[in-house]
Amino acid sequence: MHLDPFELHQPTTVDEAVRIAREFSGACDYLAGGTDLLPNYKMHINLKPHLVALDRVEELAGHSATHLGAMERLGRLEEDAAFVARYPGVADALTEIATPLVRSSGTVGGNLLVETRCFFFNQSYFWRASLGFCLKADGDRCHVVPQKERCYATFSGDLAPALLTLDATVEVAGPDGRRAIPLTDLYDAAGDGIRRLRLAPGELVVGVDLPPTAAGLKGRYKKLRVRPSFDFPELGVAVAGRWDAGSVERLRLAVGGVETYPRRFDELTDGLVGGPLTEAKIARLAEEVTRRLRPVHNTFLLPDYRRRMIGVYVRRALAEATEGTAA
Ligand SMILES: Cc1cc2nc3c(=O)[nH]c(=O)nc-3n(C[C@H](O)[C@H](O)[C@H](O)COP(=O)(O)OP(=O)(O)OC[C@H]3O[C@@H](n4cnc5c(N)ncnc54)[C@H](O)[C@@H]3O)c2cc1C
Ligand code: SF4
Repeated sequence: MHLDPFELHQPTTVDEAVRIAREFSGACDYLAGGTDLLPNYKMHINLKPHLVALDRVEELAGHSATHLGAMERLGRLEEDAAFVARYPGVADALTEIATPLVRSSGTVGGNLLVETRCFFFNQSYFWRASLGFCLKADGDRCHVVPQKERCYATFSGDLAPALLTLDATVEVAGPDGRRAIPLTDLYDAAGDGIRRLRLAPGELVVGVDLPPTAAGLKGRYKKLRVRPSFDFPELGVAVAGRWDAGSVERLRLAVGGVETYPRRFDELTDGLVGGPLTEAKIARLAEEVTRRLRPVHNTFLLPDYRRRMIGVYVRRALAEATEGTAA
């Protein structure tokens, strides 16, 4: 597999990056660490002739206790002991992403916007050509759920569920200026699976902000994958909460790796605030989360198995997060 030629643009400011993206609208991609985009390009998936590299844009680099620059490398976050102690659920997720080598290049922004995955999509051009291309690249039908309207590829980023449980917001910049949106709103759950982000053409992610309430929450991220050394999630369950004398003060739960969008389940967890999180309540929560999610057969593990594991992982994540919180 080889990389076709492209023109590389190297802006040094957010405004310049956005201007170039506007100039080549529809014919360019932003390039962060390239650990997701370039393998897809090598497989001739949705190639663009222009790449706008973000590594020289100073504003996007680095992190603080409450802000993650879009270009901050995952490995750098993982090495920051204070950050890891402050956000244990995010720390869990970081160590489970790919390998240390990939994490030394992969970025926060790239992880949030990582392309969705599917057996019939993450294949070489010749593999895809021999079967017939699909909706998500070059074709007009879906091989997983036979129809021509919607793609069911799986959201496979590990960071998003953990950041969703912290009520993170995302700053984006585009031709019409800047705006901040809750991370929940970055993913367009009403989309067709191909248009899956609520970003306008040319908009880029500047960074992620964490509210003061996120610090010190007891958080966990539990990931199901085939090879623990480096595989994408087949399921990822994140929880974060605060307890006072055994009573729930705050609780968030989010799931990724199952459907096309990571999802948070406030409608289930809000009702648990103000009382103890008993085993019976956890069992009911696990059951309700499972009932709401529908994996399809487009990853390695069978959907029925992944679905059965949702409850198991919800219970495991909560068991660890609530350790030592009893009255
Ligand atoms: C072997 C291997 C294993 C992997 N395993 C995992 C895993 O277990 N879990 C996981 O989550 N990921 C995994 N990945 C995928 C990937 O490495 C990570 O998700 C990584 O964080 C992507 O970041 P990046 O900076 O390399 O993104 P890139 O590849 O540079 O970009 C990804 C996408 O985001 C867009 N983009 C990037 N930054 C911005 C921005 N600031 N604004 C707008 N658009 C932007 C790009 O245009 C592109 O569409 C794996 C990859 C490999 C090669
Ligand atoms: S779910 Fe369907 S349309 Fe989407 S990538 Fe897979 S085969 Fe293609």
